[in-house]
Amino acid sequence: MKLDGIHHITCITADAPGNVDFYARLLGLRLVKKTVNFDAPDVYHLYYGDERGAPGTILTFFEFPDAAPGRAGAGMIHRLRWRVGSEDALAFWSDRLTNEGIDVAPVDGAIRFDDPEGLALELSATPTDDEPLTAQADDIPSEHAIQGFDGVRAYAPEREREHEILTGVMGFELDAPGEYRLHGRRTATYGYDDPPAAVGLQGAGTVHHIAWCDRDEEHADWRGRLAAAGQRPTPVIDRQYFLSIYFREPRGVLFELATPSPGFAIDEDPEHLGEQLRLPPQHGHLRARLEASLVPLVNPRVKAARS
Ligand code: ZN
Repeated sequence: MKLDGIHHITCITADAPGNVDFYARLLGLRLVKKTVNFDAPDVYHLYYGDERGAPGTILTFFEFPDAAPGRAGAGMIHRLRWRVGSEDALAFWSDRLTNEGIDVAPVDGAIRFDDPEGLALELSATPTDDEPLTAQADDIPSEHAIQGFDGVRAYAPEREREHEILTGVMGFELDAPGEYRLHGRRTATYGYDDPPAAVGLQGAGTVHHIAWCDRDEEHADWRGRLAAAGQRPTPVIDRQYFLSIYFREPRGVLFELATPSPGFAIDEDPEHLGEQLRLPPQHGHLRARLEASLVPLVNPRVKAARS
């Protein structure tokens, strides 16, 4: 059984229009699905990614319009890192973000900045053998486009202690104390940092969970494997675009395993992903009400197609 890197990362926003503006317009990711939170359908669940929303590129946000700003603490992911193709790409992004009034901090081979709600982000020019998975955007040269996730960092105490669920069960390699790497069809890094003193608060601008990409034919078997290792995985849950299993790793971060299939073209023309509100069968009868109540979003891909 093998995991193939990151499937998706899910975060929380209190501002869906501002979120689309930042991730779709400014960062040039494709809004690949506009749907609702299946467990609370009055609010959006937005998915961004490369052109087709491939595993390894998918960033999702639950919209909670009244959410207070959160802060990352122990047991929470606190930084997301994407790859870009070169140092020139870092310079391009540094200029583009600075021109929007965003503070950009250069670090070794990377730049760091926050999204409008304080979520810590990083673009890294670290070389990789993974295929670049990009989205098209009119004002972003393709060679500078974001190429998919590199990894995430979480806060946890005792980062020097090896995490057996990661290495023994999930197939991560331990690079250094607190530094893990998953080698599958794509590679991902997962690192721990010492937590801040203040307790974490789940809220706007924080990460809710990370999903690792499994293989369709192995998905159900992961439940038994995790249970045998002392975890308490959920049943398999149908998320319309993938199947999911959730469990909490021992340091408190909510993990999910998600299948690559069926993907985002199951209910929408791949040429027009993300352009219309899509509802799963159980919420289809709510369409008229939701279309009246959900705040309108400006999708730069739709605007470009119309002009
Ligand atoms: Zn998820």
